[in-house]
Amino acid sequence: MNRMEGGCLCGDVRYLCTTEPVVVALCHCTHCQRQSGSAFSVNVGVPKGSLQLVSGSTQVYPDIGHSGQPVYRHFCGRCGSPIFSDVVSRPGLDWLKAGTLDDSTGIHPTLSLWCDSAQDWFSPPEGMTMFAQGPTPL
Ligand SMILES: [Zn+2]
Ligand SMILES: [Zn+2]
Repeated sequence: MNRMEGGCLCGDVRYLCTTEPVVVALCHCTHCQRQSGSAFSVNVGVPKGSLQLVSGSTQVYPDIGHSGQPVYRHFCGRCGSPIFSDVVSRPGLDWLKAGTLDDSTGIHPTLSLWCDSAQDWFSPPEGMTMFAQGPTPL
């Protein structure tokens, strides 16, 4: 998986990433739940600078994460799809939203973050490392 392509629901925003993911993590924080409208977000950590927008541009919602640090949430201004987040407490990585990938084969989350606010029906896949809050540096 050293070439990942994807985009938003309406197709205005398209991206390309040509590096291997560093980590794939589920985030159960309440902000990811709200932004995604779902139980958690599936975030693919890629080295900052390796993600290129090939069409369109994102709008940015400047959030403050549970860490107390800014989280810049990039989304499509037309259809609202979350595309990636720039998490200041995790410098060096951008966090691509796995649901926007054209092909997510081989994208397997190994960590769960902010499990204190996970949905009560969630049970982790075998072998997943669970963090009650944010992790110590990955
Ligand atoms: Zn869109
Ligand atoms: Zn989150």
